[in-house]
Amino acid sequence: MTCKFCEKPALIYIRYANIALCREHFIQFFEKRVKRTIERFKMISPGENIGVAVSGGKDSLTLLHVLYSLSKLMDFKLIGFTINLGIRKYSEECVKIALENFRKLKLEYRIINLRDYGFTIDDIVQYKISKRVCGICGTVKRYVLNKVAREENIDRLATGHNLDDFLQVVLQGYIHGDLNYLSKYFPVTSSRDKLISRIKPLVFTPEEEIEKYAMIKGIDYCMKKCPYSFQASSHTLKKAILLIEENHPGIRFSMFNTYIKKIYPLINAKYSEKLELSECSRCGEPSRKNICLFCRVKTRIKSIKSGTIIN
Ligand code: SF4
Ligand code: ZN
Ligand code: ZN
Repeated sequence: MTCKFCEKPALIYIRYANIALCREHFIQFFEKRVKRTIERFKMISPGENIGVAVSGGKDSLTLLHVLYSLSKLMDFKLIGFTINLGIRKYSEECVKIALENFRKLKLEYRIINLRDYGFTIDDIVQYKISKRVCGICGTVKRYVLNKVAREENIDRLATGHNLDDFLQVVLQGYIHGDLNYLSKYFPVTSSRDKLISRIKPLVFTPEEEIEKYAMIKGIDYCMKKCPYSFQASSHTLKKAILLIEENHPGIRFSMFNTYIKKIYPLINAKYSEKLELSECSRCGEPSRKNICLFCRVKTRIKSIKSGTIIN
């Protein structure tokens, strides 16, 4: 098979568009779509400081490389952020790879050590703080990234959520009827109070194309799986989405656009209560409760470790 746009051999066949592309034209196709996504949702304005949350996995590192390619064209500055979550035999490897990528691109970066905040994700498992490790881990990452990004004067924080991730969350919200959550679930959120704006530039990019882009561009990413990833509930829903896609190529884009154009505006208008975010009385970070979840987890682990409470 040859490329649709030149005579070179095709490296990828894109089924939903019925096109085969060579290396160069696939990279162009891929980056152009990310650029259009950024423009469509007004994710970045010229001159802004964009923080990229890099876990070390393929999505976040692909995001880093694409944003790097677009940063000159669209006139914004990039800074990389990576958290060492303290997950044995996993975090060290992820941080090492993230660091190599930051250095390769000569980017400014910050490595945040969760241990410096008083605990690690391994502690949460070891001391049985919650059965929902991924839930707590997600909150911890959001808390730390928001705090550090604000301290570094970042305008927006970019994360590597792709099209499949986005649809999976929408489906999960639908299954559980969590309309309050969905009323705020959008590819871009604006800054308010102490919360930094968040953007998902890969939200219109299917997962398998991210893998292909990373491979073609020779992006080194962490192949290891988090030992707690089996706890994530996302796998079954993602498989279901892929199964529908196999039978109806392109349906993921329709699902996404229907949500953005028809469902989200309705839910947002009806359910998005203007919940006042107050500040945690201990750390001063945004929180709906008097003491934020991060501080509660931290205090509990500290008490268990010091023997003040028995788990
Ligand atoms: Fe955290 Fe779960 Fe992801 Fe592991 S799989 S890094 S515990 S969210
Ligand atoms: Zn070509
Ligand atoms: Zn707090």
